[in-house]
Amino acid sequence: LGEFKLIEHLTNSFSVYNKENTIKAIGDDCAVTQYSKNKQQVITTDMLVEGVHFNIMYTPLKHLGYKAITVNLSDVCAMNAKPLQVLVSIAVSSKYTLEALEELYLGIRMACQKYNIDLIGGDTTTAPSGLTISITCIGEANKEKIVYRNTAQEKDLICVTGDLGAAYLGLQILERERVVFLANPNHKPDLDNYQYVIERQLKPEPRLDVIKRLEILGIVPTSMIDVSDGLSSEVIHLCKQSKLGAKIYEEKLPIDTESYHVAEEFDITTTTAVLNGGEDYELLFTIKQSDFDIIKEEKDIHIIGYMLEENAGVYLADKNNHLFELKAQGWTAFKSE
Ligand code: ADP
Ligand code: MG
Repeated sequence: LGEFKLIEHLTNSFSVYNKENTIKAIGDDCAVTQYSKNKQQVITTDMLVEGVHFNIMYTPLKHLGYKAITVNLSDVCAMNAKPLQVLVSIAVSSKYTLEALEELYLGIRMACQKYNIDLIGGDTTTAPSGLTISITCIGEANKEKIVYRNTAQEKDLICVTGDLGAAYLGLQILERERVVFLANPNHKPDLDNYQYVIERQLKPEPRLDVIKRLEILGIVPTSMIDVSDGLSSEVIHLCKQSKLGAKIYEEKLPIDTESYHVAEEFDITTTTAVLNGGEDYELLFTIKQSDFDIIKEEKDIHIIGYMLEENAGVYLADKNNHLFELKAQGWTAFKSE
């Protein structure tokens, strides 16, 4: 079973009993609740496990704390909502000193300060080994502004923010250095040429700026998701949930120049890093064609394709218009998905 099938298997027999308050349960970047007339809340939770999601040999704890917060903020952004509060729970083994945990919380505090988020609680417990961090984030938006994964329409334009693939390539560099270091602990890595991709891996930022920009532009996307598992997987999520197909263009994929150099070093194509990498935490969304003129001037938003009817399938077109079917290959422990 892959990750998504496992979740489906475990949760599909649950009912929603409180329909007035539980607007959306499982299945999107966040759950959505409502307690007053116009405002709705979005809630998301994510767990980071040592050895699975992070390796403490090359992940400074300050960065880990920062990233644990920002990846949750990214899920709130993916609902077109404003993040407000977080709860942080940790299960920690005795190999972690007080100083280490202070570093972790320094990173958490930096992210909270930068994005004006209130830490409102959590839980602390011991664990036989390693470190596990679970973060819950709560946000809010006007009811009509919340954007789901299942509401794209045929012919909508597919947009993505920033650039893609760099976080995965950064991870390849860090993994390579780790192996070199294990063989020779005196080795001093020279990472000057890899600063951008490493930063993208260690210090992702949620695209709150894009959410604010869309508000100013008067655009509400027709569907949205954040890019955590690689573009391929996310496009497929939007298609499956909206019951549509899609075509995206290889030439339109936004990629940083440093990513090209690093991909070459590892003998992979940047397209592979973009489609099957992950952890870019950019936003993937669809807009009505009539919004094209507003979006086309935006430097940080790239139109990469459009939605098709369901039977058309989900494809990447290369520069010769050869079509490749997209497959979901999350980068996580659940590789089979
Ligand atoms: P994301 O990648 O955006 O964090 P996930 O793939 O982790 O989303 O989760 C997809 C959906 O399944 C979400 O609605 C999430 O809340 C729900 N979900 C994930 N794991 C569980 C679980 N163990 N029990 C109940 N719901 C879950
Ligand atoms: Mg998400």
